[in-house]
Amino acid sequence: MFEPDGIAPDKEKIAALLADESRQEELFQQADSVRRRYVGDAVHLRGLIEFSNICRNNCMYCGIRCGNKQVCRYRMAEEEVVATACRAADMGFKTIVLQSGEDIYYTSDRMCRIIEAIKKRDVAVTLSIGEREYKEYKAFRDAGADRYLMRIETTDKDLYHRLDPGMSWQHRYECLLMIRELGYELGSGIMVGLPGQSIESIAADLLFLKDLRIDMAGIGPFIPHPQTPLAKEKGGTLELSLRTMAVMRLLLPDINIPATTAMESLHPDGRIKALRAGANVVMPNVTEGEYRKLYELYPGKAGADETPLHSRSIIGEKIKSIGRTIGTGYGSRRRTDVAARS
Ligand code: SAM
Repeated sequence: MFEPDGIAPDKEKIAALLADESRQEELFQQADSVRRRYVGDAVHLRGLIEFSNICRNNCMYCGIRCGNKQVCRYRMAEEEVVATACRAADMGFKTIVLQSGEDIYYTSDRMCRIIEAIKKRDVAVTLSIGEREYKEYKAFRDAGADRYLMRIETTDKDLYHRLDPGMSWQHRYECLLMIRELGYELGSGIMVGLPGQSIESIAADLLFLKDLRIDMAGIGPFIPHPQTPLAKEKGGTLELSLRTMAVMRLLLPDINIPATTAMESLHPDGRIKALRAGANVVMPNVTEGEYRKLYELYPGKAGADETPLHSRSIIGEKIKSIGRTIGTGYGSRRRTDVAARS
């Protein structure tokens, strides 16, 4: 193990920690105590709206890739997105996350109208809509968007280009730099257990995320989807995903780390396990009706049959049952490092 205030370990030491199943309980306990010390016991809830499953990309792992012709596609109208967000705000959510496939129907003007309407409520807005141009990121920010989430997925460029045909790792990285420069809170992350991904590569990913100075880290297992070219792959384990997340907490002790839905999809208490191993955020799905089932990135997605209220109350009870509280503010990152003091 290592202390967050000490010298960050090198890639080899991180890889050894990730590989060591025998000491994982010790790692989880340390990540949990660092989480308590740096970000406290509050769990911040973000209401997630999956507003379109239309995507121009063809990522090999993703159930909504454009090549999957079996998906029934949907796109929510502007007013519908805003109304869903307002209902989530009424339920007490202080952050609304807008996520979609890379659907360019939502032009800069459309997205800005949605963001401005939601920002009339007392909420932070997070976008997770993929790669756009600088002027679009700027327009969204000017319209009031607070945060942006875009996973780098892996820093192994060869693996990335094999899994994300037609996309450029360098371009995705440059988008992340633009987002950070525009003053968004920046979220990124990876999938764990991609075919051909080594432990050393995951260790390199964690150091990359640290160097990128992210404010939020989304780390989840890759879960093979039967309607994708990776259907027969093994997928990531909950344990390795939790160890990866726990090491992220030690490397960046004051950031926001969600207990991801993919973790809950592998185990009925996956999110609780994550909250006890360094996570401090949960993103209950507030998408309504049939749309929920149609945003199937991977099979067995936790909560697909629930209603927003049900999702909110189930996770609320679970959080209280482990002695944690539900955050009442926006739950923005509160920096404790040098950048915050200068
Ligand atoms: N289009 C946006 C983007 O690219 O950032 C956001 C939507 S994308 C579907 C959200 C995330 O889902 C991806 O970044 C990826 O990490 C995750 N994802 C996709 N397919 C998955 C799978 N089979 N298992 C686990 N996670 C998956």
